[in-house]
Amino acid sequence: MKSLRDYVNDAEQRGVAIGHFNISNLEGLHGIFQAARALNLPVVIGTSEGERSFIGVAETVALVRALRDTYNHPIFLNADHTYSFEGVKEAIDAGYDAVIFDGAKLSLEENIATTRKCVEYARNCGRDVLVEAELGNIGQSSKMLDVIPEGVATDEAFMTSPEDAASFVRQTGVDLLAPAVGNMHGMVKGGHNPKINTERIAAIRNAAGVPLVLHGGSGISDEDFISSVKAGISTIHINTEIRLAYRDALVQTLAASPDEIAPYKILAPSVEAVAAVVMKRLKLFNGIK
Ligand SMILES: [Zn+2]
Repeated sequence: MKSLRDYVNDAEQRGVAIGHFNISNLEGLHGIFQAARALNLPVVIGTSEGERSFIGVAETVALVRALRDTYNHPIFLNADHTYSFEGVKEAIDAGYDAVIFDGAKLSLEENIATTRKCVEYARNCGRDVLVEAELGNIGQSSKMLDVIPEGVATDEAFMTSPEDAASFVRQTGVDLLAPAVGNMHGMVKGGHNPKINTERIAAIRNAAGVPLVLHGGSGISDEDFISSVKAGISTIHINTEIRLAYRDALVQTLAASPDEIAPYKILAPSVEAVAAVVMKRLKLFNGIK
């Protein structure tokens, strides 16, 4: 099977994007995999520090590997937003295919030094593990928000600059970069997430020389997704939307069947709801009607 690096390069050349979807449990994984398999598309499963401590690091690796091996399907695992070198090391040692070191809260010097340490660890682990870094402020929570969080770069002046991106990649050796280009984590109620600056995406891709990842995909308009991919995004993260679909389906099921106690029956509609969101997003990212 080709590596995640190959799939990212393929996606970029073909002008499409790989979908990255987060999970908190087995139902989420099954929903995402069902959609990816139905469309015969590669897919990346993400777990944040909170998500992976809930499922278990080794358990997450085993679950994803089981699907990859059983169905011979390109499904990969990424340690989303990891805030320490120790967390990155734990994920790589356990068998993750990719990691994100998020040093956004550190000084630039500390961020560069720790990111470089993560890259060196990945290069020497005996497998091809991708290391991603995030540059710029895009907020932190994958949840429903009343307003755009303070500090999120909606103004061009605060977005990641092509020069900073190039120098960061050169100094750290990261494989993938997640810039701040108007995107943000979470969804603003009423569907008013900021607009994506696609000219900036193109300039960063050109200057940085590595594939780009769009975080905070939930709440972005279909048009912005399409133009972002055209401009140079080759992986897109979706989390809030699938959390919402999962929760809403669960609320409805519990209300409709108050006497049902079998978890596999209570949670089946949530699996379907996650699959439906992922199906819609994967079609959009891959230009499938
Ligand atoms: Zn993110």
